[in-house]
Amino acid sequence: MTMSARKPPPKASRKAAPAVIAWYEKNARSLPWRIGPRDRATGEAPDLYRVWPYRVWLSEIMLQQTTVATVRPRFPEFLKRWPNVRALAVAPVEDVLAAWAGLGYYSRARNLHKCAREIVERRGGEFPHTEKELRTLPGIGPYTAAAIAAIAFDERAVVVDGNVERIVARLFAVETPLPAAKPILAQKAASIWPKRRSGDFAQGLMDLGATVCTPRKPNCESCPLCAFCAARREGAAAEYPRRTRRAAKPARRGAAFALFNANGEVLLERRPARGLLGGMLGLPGTAWTERSPADVARYAPVAAPWRLAGAIRHAFTHFNLELDVHIAAAPRRRTPKSGETWIAPVEARLPTVMKKALDRALAARSR
Ligand code: SF4
Repeated sequence: MTMSARKPPPKASRKAAPAVIAWYEKNARSLPWRIGPRDRATGEAPDLYRVWPYRVWLSEIMLQQTTVATVRPRFPEFLKRWPNVRALAVAPVEDVLAAWAGLGYYSRARNLHKCAREIVERRGGEFPHTEKELRTLPGIGPYTAAAIAAIAFDERAVVVDGNVERIVARLFAVETPLPAAKPILAQKAASIWPKRRSGDFAQGLMDLGATVCTPRKPNCESCPLCAFCAARREGAAAEYPRRTRRAAKPARRGAAFALFNANGEVLLERRPARGLLGGMLGLPGTAWTERSPADVARYAPVAAPWRLAGAIRHAFTHFNLELDVHIAAAPRRRTPKSGETWIAPVEARLPTVMKKALDRALAARSR
């Protein structure tokens, strides 16, 4: 026990896992990528060598930095289009990127495709079964490797995401603030991790964190860990995990240009393969910098009577963006240059920031 955490009641370490697993049996969320206790009761069984690890892997990559609500409808669409790792490996990367639109962090989609190819070309289409081997694959970091190893293969891999950190910080009343507390929380999580049913325990903690031990209003009365929880005993559950105050995110500004032709199509350009939103379609525009670029009109795709449609805001991980959106009608003969395309707005699969900008342009255009 470190000085940074209080001692939980005796036997908590032994009893936490059975309590969470028993709770999960009854309360598991129904998720399209999951074979949960209720599915297993009806005879559905994971298929270790074919589609099951693929589903777990795909869902874990989609869920990185994206909410369950966003992924829930997108997962079945993706699975329908590429039902197994072999199908995904032979898909053009542009199609995978387009299907990823709105899920954010497009480097994940690139790595997803790269990983699928590696599994097919070097591993005969089979996912490795251990956390250690999974970590050698593109796009699979420590958390994702542990989650796949535990959920798909039931390895005793300690899966520590934000939900698990919060529960463990409360269970042991860890005083060290995040992010410095991360190694302590990982060690505490390992101390309660069971040897068997590792996947069910991991998913149980995830569900508990999403539905009961929530960030602001933990519902301790309904929690299977209630009898062992040090933060609850203090009556201070919502005050954990402790945090150091974050520095404000820097702000950046930029301009985007929505050019419409007589058919109502908008001009989009493919962004460079490397960098933010790499390889995705977007509105042409300026770079995004700390100061507004001077003379923005020279970044427009054509000389035209541009009109300001308004500004949109978007929060990226490392900065907040304010983007001015300009609109104009295209001169009669504007053929697309290399990397550009005319597309009907309803058909455009765009990253969220570009979708916001296009929506702003369309709203201004109809006024
Ligand atoms: Fe979270 Fe309360 Fe359960 Fe402790 S008792 S783990 S604070 S919900």
